[in-house]
Amino acid sequence: MHKIDIELVEMTMDVMKYAIDRISSTKNKIGKPKKAEELKALVGETITKEGIGGEVAFKLWKKHLAKANVPVDHPRNLAFVPASPTRAAIMFDLVTSVSSIHGAYWMEGAGGIFCENEAMKWIVSLTGLPEGAFGVFTSGGTAANLSALVTAREYWRSLDNQNKVEKGLIITSIGAHSSIKAMAKVADVDILLVDTEDCLEADALKSVIAGLTTHQRQRLFAVVATGGTTNAGIIDDLDGIATVCQQEQLWFHVDAAYGGGALVADSVRHLFNGIEKADSITIDPHKWMFSPYDCGAVIYKKPELAKKAHSQEGSYLDIFKDEGAHGFNPTDYQIQLTRRVRGLPLWFSLATHGTDRYKAAVERGLELAQIAGRMIEENPNVELVRPPSLSCVLFRRKGWQPEDYTHWTYENHNKGFALVTPTKWKKGDTFETVSRFCFINPDTTENDIQMILDTM
Ligand SMILES: *Cc1c(COP(=O)(O)O)cnc(C)c1O
Repeated sequence: MHKIDIELVEMTMDVMKYAIDRISSTKNKIGKPKKAEELKALVGETITKEGIGGEVAFKLWKKHLAKANVPVDHPRNLAFVPASPTRAAIMFDLVTSVSSIHGAYWMEGAGGIFCENEAMKWIVSLTGLPEGAFGVFTSGGTAANLSALVTAREYWRSLDNQNKVEKGLIITSIGAHSSIKAMAKVADVDILLVDTEDCLEADALKSVIAGLTTHQRQRLFAVVATGGTTNAGIIDDLDGIATVCQQEQLWFHVDAAYGGGALVADSVRHLFNGIEKADSITIDPHKWMFSPYDCGAVIYKKPELAKKAHSQEGSYLDIFKDEGAHGFNPTDYQIQLTRRVRGLPLWFSLATHGTDRYKAAVERGLELAQIAGRMIEENPNVELVRPPSLSCVLFRRKGWQPEDYTHWTYENHNKGFALVTPTKWKKGDTFETVSRFCFINPDTTENDIQMILDTM
């Protein structure tokens, strides 16, 4: 396989040229999916006994397969939660791959894990959690939420033998991300949803707790608040909820997978007050910290509790825990053993640009949401559903039915022009279909927003 080294170097240059040309660019159309059979017809058999050769495979990638993907960093991709990894982070993602580091244990990955931890210290400092708090990088927010939930459940079980035979119960709101519900299933705990898609307030939480049966109250061990709902950017009353959790002796988890990046922004930092009282926090650097996929993070006030829940035992693993291997072992704090040092691209990008640039880039996303809000208010065809919150803007096209939003989304996507998708917003007892912008990419311009609104 080494014979192809020269060829590989040349191809690496091609890949770099290709990459630099397309990152965060509006020159290229937003790709769209094709059926698997259609893609197969275009590229033919690619896995063969002899191999088709890297050059051919790369050509097929560029010509057909790349175009069947939606680049999340396209400045007119404002759907779901887009992303916008920095060039520095992308470049270091290649270095991360080329270094072949096993990121589970310090013994093997000290250099990489050291860098991850430097980046993590900065993230932890944004939360204001007390001394001793620390975290690890995960594959994403879902995995981070799972590890936080499992840590909370194991802690609760350790408090009382009766808890070991009970099914645990957590409370969150309907504004919480789908992964909370999905991971509650994985962790085999029940979930109770407070019926608000708006800010979850301490009083609403208190009255739900007061309404529990004695048995339910026994089983209740955690509350999950959201630091920036994915749909609307709403931040729950973190301080109030923290107080309730303290009084009721419940684990307080804050899911800030999307919103966590905004902790760096002075203009909105106060909205997160109370997050420093959390027992655990989820933040996705691959959302608003400009990291490439995949990079989530889970942070614990008391990391030793996560270790109790996650640490793996095995005779062949003992050496890693030896004094001689002294250091921080990321595997102990989340569900993966073998893991990529996925925090490394973030470290390099932070080191390259400095944290002030991160602050400015996040503030730009917040500003774009405010700008879009004003443009919507000035446009007679559309109106705001609610004021922009963080970088989310919910708006309606006057007179449109749900299917109009769907057609409009497909039309812009098919042209490769923009990806803006409909969502639902709860109004009383019914759900209204509306449109939604979510800004992450600081390269998005006012003109991009105007062009999109003009297509409505
Ligand atoms: C995106 C998101 C998640 C899930 O994160 P993944 O990285 O996609 O697994 C969880 N919670 C919130 C609030 C999110 O916005």
